[in-house]
Amino acid sequence: MAGSESWPVAPAFEGGHQAAPAKGMGMTDQRRDDPLTLWQADAAEVTTGLAAVDRRAFLMRSAVTGAAAVLAGCTAPAPQETASNPTPPPTPKATGSQVSSDLAVKKQTKGPVMTTLDEFYKVGPGPSSSHTIGPMRITYDFYQRCTKLPADQLAKATALKVHLFGSLSATGQGHGTERAALAGIVGKEPATVEPAFLDSLASNPDQSFDVKLGDTTFKTSLKDIVYDAPKGDFPHPNTMTCKLMAGDQVLLEQEYYSVGGGFIEWKGYEPPKKGQPKYPYATMKELLAHAETNKLSVAQVVMANEVAVSGKSEAEVSAFVHKIHTAMVNIVKAGLAAPPATLPGPIKLKTKAGDVYKRAMEDRYERQRGVGVVAAYALAGSEENARGHLVVTAPTGGSAGVLPAIVHALGEGGRQLPDDKIRDGFLAAAAVGYLCKHNATLSGAEGGCQAEIGVASAMGAAFLAQAHDQSPQVVANAAESSLQHHLGMTCDPVAGFVQVPCIERCAFGAVKAWTGYMIASNEIPSNRRVDFDTTVDAMALTAREMNAKYKETSEGGLAVSLVLC
Ligand code: SF4
Repeated sequence: MAGSESWPVAPAFEGGHQAAPAKGMGMTDQRRDDPLTLWQADAAEVTTGLAAVDRRAFLMRSAVTGAAAVLAGCTAPAPQETASNPTPPPTPKATGSQVSSDLAVKKQTKGPVMTTLDEFYKVGPGPSSSHTIGPMRITYDFYQRCTKLPADQLAKATALKVHLFGSLSATGQGHGTERAALAGIVGKEPATVEPAFLDSLASNPDQSFDVKLGDTTFKTSLKDIVYDAPKGDFPHPNTMTCKLMAGDQVLLEQEYYSVGGGFIEWKGYEPPKKGQPKYPYATMKELLAHAETNKLSVAQVVMANEVAVSGKSEAEVSAFVHKIHTAMVNIVKAGLAAPPATLPGPIKLKTKAGDVYKRAMEDRYERQRGVGVVAAYALAGSEENARGHLVVTAPTGGSAGVLPAIVHALGEGGRQLPDDKIRDGFLAAAAVGYLCKHNATLSGAEGGCQAEIGVASAMGAAFLAQAHDQSPQVVANAAESSLQHHLGMTCDPVAGFVQVPCIERCAFGAVKAWTGYMIASNEIPSNRRVDFDTTVDAMALTAREMNAKYKETSEGGLAVSLVLC
């Protein structure tokens, strides 16, 4: 066939490697076994997802006006630093980007991993787990607390007020944090809120809503969500306060923290009581030791712990994973089905997932076809996130295109692996995410993009290895490889919007996950010089030493190099 390429045959190593094709296996079968050849993907099928919805108008941050590059014919303002004026700008204060050691998110690093799947894989509105899903979970939590106040207190209520601090204030407008916060405060549940409701908050920002607490009803609107101090000495970079008011009097007040990945805490937070893990681990080394001693896969260790910690049965855990699996597939399909459009916000970024998918499927070079299709799936998920529609944190909103791409490529959008293999992939991926959260961070505001796309890519690599029944060491090595090659990646979203570099970065994260898996499954596992825990330590160290302006502030990198007009 013109343009077709020859197919390398993977050598068979000892130690749980992917087997080489059996003798006598034809070329067609070898191609079918290639993980990047998506033979069964059906273009028609994936273009019949959800209908497109109206786009929202986002606000543009004034910070970009000092940018020093040219985009599409714009004239750049004079650079702030020139040879004749070499004085570097002052380094932004780190205050507001440090995390208090009082928070559970820090304290929990001392014991074994206790995170459960439903805490980790959360469905909610994009574009950011820390800036939309977390804040919406916070305001929804506060709304629930208000409903439990005594009737005589509620009778006095006149208003709800939410104040956003730190990174939530600095980049919240670009993320639509105020709309997510308002949706929660009017009692919308994050996992089930209609995307159309969130879209309507953008298209009609002046509307107000009735809040009914007991026998009292009052109005609330976006004016009650206040962008407060962007810098200060906060317990966490993503700090918020919620207040129920009676005139000038505060009836109920709570300080909250959106600590990354959609996780939330509050002042005085105590982690929920849980069972003890059957196989306690705080590092990958400990997890691998359990797997080896008990002759278990990584997925089996995670499942046993999930049952012990959450109190759920294996069937209930599998049902939850199936729900997440379905949600991710729907997200990819919706993103591919959406007609080409301009995403909301000042970047005027055009969507391309559908085009990239269509062209990839027509690519005469079959190996390129696989790369293009995986990238298209990731773009689809990430564009859904940018629209502010529902996504699954894996581990965050900004990185929410990575794992769905892997999941869909291994399932009905590609290899058609059975559901139990996909479930095992989710379990192994969760272990990687848990350990990164436990020993480093999942927050771009705390650790830069290595903590978001880097972790997502590592999770994807572990997913791939586990779904292909690789040994625990290969699962760990695949995750390590993918994470290693994201170390140091900064978070510099242009204009505070989770679009550039985030959307394409998801595509790269997915493809790098596959690269990590391919390297790990084709090398001798024991030869790997760097172990997963070392790389997580390196990520934590890099996060600590990273200049604060590269932590989701939109004050560095692309955010100041790209001129918008
Ligand atoms: S640059 Fe990375 S960490 Fe920052 S918002 Fe985008 S995806 Fe998230």
